[in-house]
Amino acid sequence: MAERKGEPRLEEKLFEVAKRRGFFYASNEIYGGLTGFYDYGSIGTLVKKNIENLWRRHFLSLGENFFEIEPSDVMPEPVFIASGHIKNFIDPSVRCKKEGIYYRADHIVGNAIKQNVEGKNAEELGNLIKEHKVRCPKCGGELGEVKVLNMMMPVRLGAEEDTLAFLRPETAQGVYVNFLRQFNIQRGRMPMGLAIIGKAFRNEISPRQLLIRQREFTQAELQIFFDPDKINEMEEKKWEEVSKYSINILSVGKGEAAKHTCKDLAEKMGIPKFYVYHMAKMQQFFIGALGLPEEKFRMRELSKEERAFYNKIHFDVEVYLESLGEFKEIGGVHYRTDHDLKGHGEISKKSHEIFFDGKRFIPHVLELSTGIDRTFYAVMELSYREPKEKRDWEWFAFAPGVAPFQFAVYPLVNKDGVPGPAEKAYVQLKERYAVVYDDSGSIGRRYARADEIGIPFSITADYDTLKDDSVTIRDRDTTEQIRVKIKDLEKEASRLLAKGH
Ligand code: AMP
Repeated sequence: MAERKGEPRLEEKLFEVAKRRGFFYASNEIYGGLTGFYDYGSIGTLVKKNIENLWRRHFLSLGENFFEIEPSDVMPEPVFIASGHIKNFIDPSVRCKKEGIYYRADHIVGNAIKQNVEGKNAEELGNLIKEHKVRCPKCGGELGEVKVLNMMMPVRLGAEEDTLAFLRPETAQGVYVNFLRQFNIQRGRMPMGLAIIGKAFRNEISPRQLLIRQREFTQAELQIFFDPDKINEMEEKKWEEVSKYSINILSVGKGEAAKHTCKDLAEKMGIPKFYVYHMAKMQQFFIGALGLPEEKFRMRELSKEERAFYNKIHFDVEVYLESLGEFKEIGGVHYRTDHDLKGHGEISKKSHEIFFDGKRFIPHVLELSTGIDRTFYAVMELSYREPKEKRDWEWFAFAPGVAPFQFAVYPLVNKDGVPGPAEKAYVQLKERYAVVYDDSGSIGRRYARADEIGIPFSITADYDTLKDDSVTIRDRDTTEQIRVKIKDLEKEASRLLAKGH
């Protein structure tokens, strides 16, 4: 999608349609908005919930012992002493002396010197600023000292405000503090999966790129607890399912991504089978369940310097976003070892050792993490189609499972008995699908409205319907139409959805 000079950028086009049609917009808009916070509107909420439900269905079906829980968003200070967030969840920041604005020091240094400087500490970044004479990217002003800021949002509880707590900066800790209780509830079996789809809060220094870097966002994370002695094993049947499946991988030190089968990743590249299997499941979620184009997807291995010290193996899920001009992390597969449970054992003074399979050990954790808002944004961008040829409006090619509605139903006119069969078709489909009824404006306007929110099929009752009891189904992607008897509508609807897009 080449952009001509003077034309709005892709990000601006997406935000314009997002605001106009109710996908998302700045939160607290009437008060001027709050930086780093967005609200999902009526259409966006439907799409977001669809993505979350697809995630649920996909990841919870990976094991019989996998469940979702819903812990509180507010957690007391000791949780984050145990997890290391108090000490380590910090971002290097630097202030423009002229404008007084704070920036992520690693971002502006990285952009200025065109190098990946992730993981460098404040002193190293400060030295790079001096050495390369890096200045404020906005006004060219001089930069101050590089400081580290903790990104957690504190809350003081009670009338005396004497209890220090934090809004959780990741959903993961909500699972870990529930591990002991859930292990009993789930009858002491391994592997055990616990998922949370919920909010995380980070006081990002420079929120930007719409939903990509916010201060409040939704994560969907599955924590799988397992016996580390079994990391190289995978149930035969499950392994068979993926062994020939290819994943697009960018390994450390390689300039370009390449496809590798799961078998090769395990046997030639030495990545544990248990890990590889879940990488495959991650890719299958984004490409299979959400319908993202394969060529825009890769899994990038993080070097020792880039990944958190407790992550033994770390691949980020990345999607190429044209609006940002780069691959963006939207999720990850993290082998967190026993770091978290060990930490909570020490600080809570409750042993997190379990007895399983004849031995005592602290389970290890494999975390499958997905940022729902980034995924939402990626789905929106990659489904976005410019006005072209047959239509002069923009539209979204959402997969039917992601679209806010699967069907729109219209009476061609609001008279002469035409609405009757349209209402009949609407009631019939509404039992099984998300359907919207629209009877205002010209039929062309109604198609445009449906396309703009990515409804895959539009059904119209017209004067012929009164004679032959059939309706027209218009395919969003091709704009082609077929004629179907109302009595066959349900069967046809399920055939069309199964065919997908
Ligand atoms: P992390 O715990 O940093 O690995 O984050 C897990 C996932 O949450 C990432 O892959 C992102 O998709 C998402 N995420 C992290 N930070 C933000 C943010 N500030 N705004 C929106 N999504 C985020």
